[in-house]
Amino acid sequence: MNILVINSGSSSIKYKFFKMPEENLISKGVIEHIGEKGSSIKDHYRGLKIILEGINHVDAVGHRVVHGGEKFRDPVLIDKSVIRKIRECSTLAPLHNPANLAGILSCKKLLPGIKQAAVFDTAFYQTIPDYAYIYGLPYDYYRKFGIRKYGFHGTSHEYVANEAAGILGKPLKALKVITCHLGNGCSVTAIDKGRPIDTSMGFTPLEGLVMGTRCGDIDPSLVTYLMRKKRFNISQIDGILNKESGLKGISGFSNDMRQLNKKLKEGNARARLAIDIFVYRVKKYIGAYTLVMDGCDALVFTGGIGENQKEVRKKICLGMFSALKKKPEVLIVPTDEELMIARRAYRLAKI
Ligand code: ADP
Repeated sequence: MNILVINSGSSSIKYKFFKMPEENLISKGVIEHIGEKGSSIKDHYRGLKIILEGINHVDAVGHRVVHGGEKFRDPVLIDKSVIRKIRECSTLAPLHNPANLAGILSCKKLLPGIKQAAVFDTAFYQTIPDYAYIYGLPYDYYRKFGIRKYGFHGTSHEYVANEAAGILGKPLKALKVITCHLGNGCSVTAIDKGRPIDTSMGFTPLEGLVMGTRCGDIDPSLVTYLMRKKRFNISQIDGILNKESGLKGISGFSNDMRQLNKKLKEGNARARLAIDIFVYRVKKYIGAYTLVMDGCDALVFTGGIGENQKEVRKKICLGMFSALKKKPEVLIVPTDEELMIARRAYRLAKI
């Protein structure tokens, strides 16, 4: 069965085409600049049409959908009611869900009668207990507005945790695993016997670790303080926290760990500080999750930094587990969210 995996963003569509269950990658690619000024690709429908002209015999499609709110615990086959619910979740992810939906609706038109599955970034976290996902805010905000921790990168954490269990030759259900997805966006997840029990990203992907350009955890009063002090409006403060902070904001020159390491070797103090803060924050989360799970059997690194930056991994692990009776296995597992989506779509479509 041939599965097309679609990751539809606001101005791009990434795709991978797999033969399943063999998991052979037939082709992959990306269409960019959709709907941008001067681009010949006016919308997602036209972008997808170009992709479909280059591939044959699509048996089913798997779509990445960023936000499933509390409505989706598992991947689902897409019908009218699923489309309605994804649309409802757009209030929680206004930048992502509408773009994901544009891909789904275009696929429905271009591939009528072909089964389509939605795989949600948030679904993996639906087992997190309420004491970990409710914020210390008036409880009514949770009931009325769905304000809670949702978590992101779920497909990646789930994939690498399963791969790690395979490498260790044990069922995931028998392990306490901490997965670190360290890319431009970064998150840590604690998985106890196959079920996530906490994750560092929250209501949005801004919470938690210091990332490429996102600040991660800060004192929330800083938002109102800065808005008063600098007279920032909502979109300005949003831009600063999401696009001008993190490694880029601290170093003052780059969000790219490669550049920071290069400058560190040249003695740049701000590059050193940015890396130290990044490492320290990851350490804190790993430490907290190890304690919450009363141990850690496997610590898994993935994402551009997690997979490739040995020095950063070393700094994170330095002096970490001496107090533990049993040290965790440290594993590097390249992530493959698209393959995970293909597996899920295949499982749903073959029935
Ligand atoms: P995204 O989260 O956008 O998918 P990546 O997972 O590629 O991005 O992560 C980007 C980060 O990973 C950057 O800080 C970059 O320096 C680092 N990185 C990516 N690839 C490599 C590599 N081959 N060697 C070293 N660092 C890398």
